[in-house]
Amino acid sequence: MKTTFEFKTLAEFMDYFCDEATCLKHYTGIRFANGEYCPHCGHTEIYTFKDGKRYRCAKCKQDFTIKTDTVFGESKLPLRKWFIAIYLLSTTSKGMSSVQVAKHVGVTQKTAWFMAHRIREAHQQNKGQLFGKIEADETFIGGLSKNMHAKQRKAAIKGTGGKGKTAVFGMKSRAGEVRAKVVASVGIVDLHREIKTNVAPGATLYTDGWVGYRGLKAEFNHATVDHMAKEYVNGDCHTNGIESFWALFKRGYHGVYHHMSRKHLQRYVNEFTFRLNRRTEEMQSVFSDVVANVAKSAQLPYKTLIQKPI
Ligand SMILES: [Zn+2]
Repeated sequence: MKTTFEFKTLAEFMDYFCDEATCLKHYTGIRFANGEYCPHCGHTEIYTFKDGKRYRCAKCKQDFTIKTDTVFGESKLPLRKWFIAIYLLSTTSKGMSSVQVAKHVGVTQKTAWFMAHRIREAHQQNKGQLFGKIEADETFIGGLSKNMHAKQRKAAIKGTGGKGKTAVFGMKSRAGEVRAKVVASVGIVDLHREIKTNVAPGATLYTDGWVGYRGLKAEFNHATVDHMAKEYVNGDCHTNGIESFWALFKRGYHGVYHHMSRKHLQRYVNEFTFRLNRRTEEMQSVFSDVVANVAKSAQLPYKTLIQKPI
């Protein structure tokens, strides 16, 4: 058994998190890293029940556990199963279907699906703006893939890019970071909003000649390649980096998940950008960051997951 939190392989990971008590101790340390507090009212004086698992707030008198108000929610699943699922979904390059997660973790497929969506919620990342050289492009997910990019865009300027398709807009910094967001359309309003939120003014922006990218020259050093004229590289200007991210995402879509509903698509996008952005890091720090995100994120109740899209 390992006694220090240190691992480079799944075997060492399992060695350290050998029982539920170790997992509980580890997670409690992260949840209360800045001191104990009540998730209901924020009060810092709390009592611990004898079982060591439940707490009561001295002020509002409500009970809670360390899972309350986090992505783990009020699930009865052992933390160890959550930890294994986090490890698998955060480190396997193309993702993992809920059928596979269920087999590895030892839960039903329905439970695995539910866990995976909550973990994706904790794959949300980094704020702040990208700077330097940034490639931007959009793609369409779902539905039939027969339509050409140009036709999809025409359909998507007002809607979803054709039957069953959802537009996703992405940006990739040449320094490595990828961000992607499900957008209502690929029109000027939606694309400009995402670019201005995510890219620092004065940064160099590389796109193709799509109309949705017009009018950005005032704020950015904007260069374009004309894909319609079969021009793909113009000096340093190309969008090959973000396009290879779309290729990776689509391999996961077709090869692993087979279907991603529009409602849950942003969470899948988060999962893929998270893994790509963290791929060169030690598994240990990747795992730790996801668990830290879990500890501070609001829970995603099952009823929210299964609600019909608006
Ligand atoms: Zn309270």
